[in-house]
Amino acid sequence: MTRRYPIVVLGAAESGTGAAVLAKARGLEVFVSDAGSIKEKFKALLKEWDIPFEENQHTAELILGADEIIKSPGIPEATPLVAAAITQGIPVISEIEFAARYSQGKFICITGSNGKTTTTLLTHHLLVKGGLDAGVAGNVGNSFALELLKGDHRWWVLELSSFQLDGIFRFRPHIAILTNITPDHLDRYGSFEKYIASKMRIVQNQQPEDAFIWFSGDPVIRREIEKRSFKQRLIPYGETYPGCAEGAWIENEKIIIKLNNDIMSSTIENLALQGRHNIYNSMASAIAARLAEVRKMRIKESLADFQNVEHRLEFVATVHGIDFINDSKATNVNSTWYALESMNKPVIWIAGGKDKGNDYTMLIELVKQKVKAIVCLGVDNTKLKLVFGNIIQTIVEASSAEEAVQAAYQLGQKGDVVLLSPACASFDLFENYEDRGNQFKKAVKNL
Ligand code: ADP
Repeated sequence: MTRRYPIVVLGAAESGTGAAVLAKARGLEVFVSDAGSIKEKFKALLKEWDIPFEENQHTAELILGADEIIKSPGIPEATPLVAAAITQGIPVISEIEFAARYSQGKFICITGSNGKTTTTLLTHHLLVKGGLDAGVAGNVGNSFALELLKGDHRWWVLELSSFQLDGIFRFRPHIAILTNITPDHLDRYGSFEKYIASKMRIVQNQQPEDAFIWFSGDPVIRREIEKRSFKQRLIPYGETYPGCAEGAWIENEKIIIKLNNDIMSSTIENLALQGRHNIYNSMASAIAARLAEVRKMRIKESLADFQNVEHRLEFVATVHGIDFINDSKATNVNSTWYALESMNKPVIWIAGGKDKGNDYTMLIELVKQKVKAIVCLGVDNTKLKLVFGNIIQTIVEASSAEEAVQAAYQLGQKGDVVLLSPACASFDLFENYEDRGNQFKKAVKNL
């Protein structure tokens, strides 16, 4: 008879191997199954922990014999074996749900279509600089499970994708941040409504003493807020005074945060992260840090000395008076909107890549105002040329980061800025957005 494992992990990448190792370390018998091939570094980790695994196949008998399945976020729920497990009543959970059982800490969880990583790392920075014992994990860096194995923290700042949220059932964020909801991952969800429902799972287990920090400038979130009833503290942040007891807004070039009838303010000029979207991210992080009782002075100092995250509006260099900015992580139209919005010099815009059904029309006004030339960096640039051909005279095409940088440099003059903010995924010409950003930076350094 085949051996039975109470815990089966599906998918052996960052979160799957993390969950398996944590399970084993906590004395649970665990089996790992991946339908594809497993990367060497993860295989080595599984072997080191003496965890049995299979690759390039799923053995149904083993998987459906489990008491609980930990599913990696990359595997859709519609996958036949996963669907079969759910039908049989086997709980299918995420690594976050599983790992949280082994932590005594409090959770600050960040989700949204854009701004998750920046807000997560900034919040962590504010907590640590505020003297709190805080760890950071989730969709950024190491898995939560592996970080937890190194040691528990009083506070955990976790970046959560919608796919990770799909697998949470009891997991309770003490503080939840929702940065925005714009159409994304529709290939997997099938409808925008389903994607919205996933994002909103972040608040489903919150208790009255918990807080939900949400971006008031987002009509989709606003609609969800109006539709549902909440028992937790609701703390909106955005451009204008929200008209409720607690929240954050902008007034006279300052961020104002009102919590518990107490006001904190910080000048926008002092923020380390530039761009309108980053003012919002800074507000959300600062609210979370205040709720964790970090002192106001400390928060202000730390908002000013945060080191920007790579590939997000990252300043690369000034060459002969032309600035080069790497925003390779802008893989959708919304993030590029904020990048263009934050530019205050004539822009040579490097855009394009793998289009996920983009609607570029929301960029037209900004492009008219700010962009002097476009360099298309994708295999198929038809759509970009079609949308912007009438308003921008100079549109050229490039098939590598180096070509794009060279072309942009030729088109530029002193006082211009070359912005790589593609609004598209990178898989047509690059391995991933990091590869695209790194190649861009290398090409700039070689000028
Ligand atoms: P995520 O982890 O959600 O992908 P990142 O912090 O990595 O978010 O940022 C992704 C892209 O979105 C970058 O181009 C960044 O400049 C942009 N961005 C960051 N914060 C926001 C925001 N609040 N709204 C819109 N775009 C944002």
